[in-house]
Amino acid sequence: MNGYWSRLARKLEPYVPGEQPGDGTYIKLNTNENPYGPSPKVLEAVRRAVDESLRLYPDPSCDAFISAVSARYGVKKDQVFAGNGSDEVLAFSFMAFFDPDRPIVFPDITYSFYPVYATLFGLNYVTVPLDSEFKIRPEQMRSSGGVVIANPNAPTGRALPLSEIRSILDGNPGAVVIVDEAYVDFGGQSAIGLIDEYPNLLVVHTFSKSRALAGMRIGLAFGDSGLIRALESVKNSFNSYTLDRLALAAGTAALEDDEYYKGTSRKVIETREWFTAELRKRDFSVTDSSANFVFASHSRVRAEELYHRLRDNRILVRYFKKPLIDNHLRISIGTDEDMRTVIEVLDRIL
Ligand code: PMP
Repeated sequence: MNGYWSRLARKLEPYVPGEQPGDGTYIKLNTNENPYGPSPKVLEAVRRAVDESLRLYPDPSCDAFISAVSARYGVKKDQVFAGNGSDEVLAFSFMAFFDPDRPIVFPDITYSFYPVYATLFGLNYVTVPLDSEFKIRPEQMRSSGGVVIANPNAPTGRALPLSEIRSILDGNPGAVVIVDEAYVDFGGQSAIGLIDEYPNLLVVHTFSKSRALAGMRIGLAFGDSGLIRALESVKNSFNSYTLDRLALAAGTAALEDDEYYKGTSRKVIETREWFTAELRKRDFSVTDSSANFVFASHSRVRAEELYHRLRDNRILVRYFKKPLIDNHLRISIGTDEDMRTVIEVLDRIL
């Protein structure tokens, strides 16, 4: 910080993303990426998009991509918003729907970008404790200012059934409820089917997890057309071209290869179930995950020590040195071979 920083810049506490080591010799299980690559059809579409047309701006309305989303999810085009990763979609949503004089609520343990956006946009927030089993308490998620939840939640992996999402929506008719479904394809129930019924529901998706396109930065929001118009208005006051030509080509092609992604998601789920059982045999307590990661704590060895020892063995996992979760590791699900290696290394450490 120096004397040139704005008052805003001075008070920020930025999000710290998981490490992206450049040398490729790690088993990388720290940012919930997909161990399987994108569909071959996506790679082909991106290659085809690399031509002289890159001199032109991309379509600011993302029309072809949004048409493909609309067909895939059975929603109207005016119920869809596209952005540069779901982080950006979330940031625009905080700007579009929340005001400083009405605090928003989110769980005390959740995606750590939510408080960062709140601070960036000068919003106030209240956190609601999870129960002792790391479950969101739907009846306490109440605010006239807005509600944000991740379902499945991060970093716990626990999911709420749709009936409990409904009860949150019914309890907050006057405020926007954002349901961040970054991990829904690994075992959650999506609330997209509720957007016609609840004009205050915004469902946020990403192509970074089940669709294996974290490197392309593609996110979506689904909601009533009234909400989508607010997001468009914020976006067009910020940057008209948030999705580039290659991302639009990749996203559109990804929607046309559901079979491929169903297969890789199924594989990740199978590996997660095997890995969870192996951890439990070794005295880890592991939450029931509906995501592409597990959240685990050992009965004797502290998570921070395990994190360092795994790292010494070229395995990267995520450790959050934060109250309530500072004895847990979040471990992304890799290939079967990756996870067998983790178990072997844990056996040596323990
Ligand atoms: N929401 C949650 C709950 C996440 O864990 C992540 C990934 N870190 C995101 C949103 C953002 O994903 P992306 O910006 O890659 O779409």
